[in-house]
Amino acid sequence: MSRGAVMIECLYYAKTTPIITVDDWKPRLEDRFQDESEANLSGAPECIFCEIVSGKAEASIVFRDEQVTVFMDIHPVNPGHLLVVPNEHASGIDDVPEAVCARMFIVGRQMARALRRSGLRCEGVNLYLADGAAAGQDVFHSHLHVIPRFRGNPGSLGLQADFSVVASRDELEVQAEAIRNSFDAAGDVV
Ligand SMILES: [Zn+2]
Repeated sequence: MSRGAVMIECLYYAKTTPIITVDDWKPRLEDRFQDESEANLSGAPECIFCEIVSGKAEASIVFRDEQVTVFMDIHPVNPGHLLVVPNEHASGIDDVPEAVCARMFIVGRQMARALRRSGLRCEGVNLYLADGAAAGQDVFHSHLHVIPRFRGNPGSLGLQADFSVVASRDELEVQAEAIRNSFDAAGDVV
């Protein structure tokens, strides 16, 4: 990935969080990528999803255990759009340990079930994982999208979604609570 692409991606997310500002990120990234050959995000300390998992960046957390964390996507394709991420940084799905990868999909399926019961509009669900820039991966900490869909929705995720819309924190918190409340009885997501 080019340095420019990394900058755009990180600034895109940084501008949406009150905790990490653009000014905080920019000098750190410039220091890091003085040499293009160093532009390897594996284990990157400025990874926004690592910041969320560690609690340094704000997010509406829906679920977490020792292997994965689930939170609301701040640029939702539809209300209720969730991301399931491994707690340990891994750029691509092939870098995620197999047991954790399995856990991502097991939890993703449970989130899909919770979405259908949540009261949010959800007639269908996309489980979507983009692996690599060419596949549309935008944050290089592997993540599984769980996206509510309904009739009349565009059939394609990438071409017609408006990612410029930023959901309000209050909105995301209400949706996160609705989904959390839709988990099965105790033990379902454990
Ligand atoms: Zn990370």
